[in-house]
Amino acid sequence: MTRDLLKDMQAYRDDLTAIRRDIHQHPETAFEENRTSDVVAAKLSEWGIPVHRGLGKTGVVGTLKGNRPGQRSIVLRADMDALNLQEKNTFAHKSVHDGKMHACGHDGHTAMLLGAARHLAKHPDFAGTLHFIFQPAEEGEGGARVMIEEGLFEMFPCDAVYGMHNMPGLKLGEFAIRPGAMMAASDTWSAVFRGTGGHGAMPHMGTDPTMPAGAFITTTQGIIGRNVNPQHAAVVSVGHIAAGSYGSPNVIPSEVTIRGTARSYTPEDRDLLERRLGEIAQGIASAHGCTAEYHYLRRYPPLRNAPEQTALALKAAALTVGEAKTDGDVEPLTGAEDFAFMLEKKPGAYILIGNGGSISDGSCHYVHTPHYDFNDQILVTGAAYWVNLVDVELGDAR
Ligand SMILES: [Zn+2]
Ligand SMILES: [Zn+2]
Repeated sequence: MTRDLLKDMQAYRDDLTAIRRDIHQHPETAFEENRTSDVVAAKLSEWGIPVHRGLGKTGVVGTLKGNRPGQRSIVLRADMDALNLQEKNTFAHKSVHDGKMHACGHDGHTAMLLGAARHLAKHPDFAGTLHFIFQPAEEGEGGARVMIEEGLFEMFPCDAVYGMHNMPGLKLGEFAIRPGAMMAASDTWSAVFRGTGGHGAMPHMGTDPTMPAGAFITTTQGIIGRNVNPQHAAVVSVGHIAAGSYGSPNVIPSEVTIRGTARSYTPEDRDLLERRLGEIAQGIASAHGCTAEYHYLRRYPPLRNAPEQTALALKAAALTVGEAKTDGDVEPLTGAEDFAFMLEKKPGAYILIGNGGSISDGSCHYVHTPHYDFNDQILVTGAAYWVNLVDVELGDAR
């Protein structure tokens, strides 16, 4: 069955490559994926799949019913957006938009899901309903969250959600996943310490916010070492410090601003980081006669795979490339991904597909770098994974 499917899907190889390169050449960033969503909607319509547009501005949802009765409904999701980055590749399909680039492979994700939609429209041998979701603004702007807020799951009820991302450095066409936490929550925090400031020669005349600021920076690492369960991973990093004036080293500033990032893998650890950073900022500020203004901004939640759907995804991957080329216990990543918003609402699984090469010997370029390119050799593999997943979820392979 697997070999037949791959052979079937090979027929789409040239078309999928052309679609992928066309999207690569015309990158569009958050909520501006107008041309890309036109391409997606036109293809789905061409294959007889009804299309809904406009959720999250440029989001596209295609819905396909199986030819067997069934109540179950699942979501297969791809992202469409590019990054604000200057491409340094010189091949024919390089970006035509200055300063914008498909440097995360969302061009490939879109093409793979289109390949699956095309095959499934022709062979709807499953029981239930599929929603193909093409979402905007994965990179930083939370397109998935916006689609959900605008009613995605009320308009398209579903029982499970599935996502996929390419991974440079993972062997070409191999799959990797894990149950539970797979990617981190990504949050931003800031603490502004305020005192009177004063003359550098007469510190006793006022209060000095550089004192609590310095103590705060070193004390934050105590959250990781003393508060977070040693079996869990979490990160607190300072990314920005601003105070005083370079030309006035003899002036004690009245304000010190510190900003940073916080990464965690469970909702409880996320709460802990938010609470402890604030407590430390306030406590240390008052110990030095200063004040602290503290803000914690929750950006992307931790990405957590449900055990049951992870097992189904792993089975679909093994059907596609063989068990030896799948890893069901991959190490979690400290990066973030907004598919996590969908996984907060519905059980599901997010799998990685190898884009090939090796980071250490320089034979591949990582995502978000100017020489990166999605590897067209995995288009058919990725599309076949989606088809196998449908067979595992709603078809004969369950
Ligand atoms: Zn990215
Ligand atoms: Zn990405």
